[in-house]
Amino acid sequence: MSDRLKGKRAFVTAGAVGIGRACAIAFAREGATVIATDIDEKGLALVAKEGVAEVARLDVRDGSAVETMAKKVGKVDILLNAAGFVHHGTALECSDADWDFSFDLNVKSMHRTTRAFLPAMLAGGGGSIVNISSAAGVFKAAPNRYVYSATKAAVAALTRAVAVDFIGKGIRCNCICPGTIETPSMLGRAAAAGPGGREMFVARQPMGRLGTAEEIASLAVYLASDESSFTTGVAHIIDGGWTL
Ligand code: NAD
Repeated sequence: MSDRLKGKRAFVTAGAVGIGRACAIAFAREGATVIATDIDEKGLALVAKEGVAEVARLDVRDGSAVETMAKKVGKVDILLNAAGFVHHGTALECSDADWDFSFDLNVKSMHRTTRAFLPAMLAGGGGSIVNISSAAGVFKAAPNRYVYSATKAAVAALTRAVAVDFIGKGIRCNCICPGTIETPSMLGRAAAAGPGGREMFVARQPMGRLGTAEEIASLAVYLASDESSFTTGVAHIIDGGWTL
């Protein structure tokens, strides 16, 4: 721990497992007071043992719950939006319900939290918003990631839009575009691909391995901290060379 986020308050969505969890824990280790939220209360209970100040159930698809939470929490310096779902399939396998669900969870959730937390951030003089996008959709086309890619490109666009609108008011907004990262849902997708599924995901990574959630959290710490004070509106790729 080197206190890179000392004195800052951070709010994290989807903080129970995977990338959100790793970010919440890394923020806490760097001295931030962290509120980690998720719909997975069992996962949150484990995160609570890792130095995170507070955990709370929050469904980011529930607009009024997000508003109520933001009012209760008040000013945060860091908002990390990690909630997201990977739909498998092409346009032909994507029903309207699939499309709406993916956009609601992956994109509109970030609109909800940004709109809810921004006023207090602005009143407090600024803050850093970090959205989890993906290399898929922003930097690379990936097979069977039709609506997922569309949502993640939307996240990058939303990120730039927020950045430009509030650039003079102390708000920075960046997104992270990970490659293939070993998390519970990623391992589930590998298992669903059948025997050799994990090897298939590893094979597409030129470094010969999957990324870790902690490697993504390291970039999130930088973007959340004042070290990145001249950086806003950028899609930061961290993909083990997948897009090379
Ligand atoms: P994950 O998919 O393993 O876990 C997702 C978390 O989101 C779970 O804790 C789940 O309970 C929570 N969640 C689901 N619906 C929710 C809701 N309505 N409200 C609040 N929380 C909800 O996590 P991951 O693989 O670390 O993915 C995190 C983010 O990173 C996602 O946005 C994902 O698209 C993105 N991402 C992941 C990878 C990867 O390879 N794992 C690559 C690129 C981008």
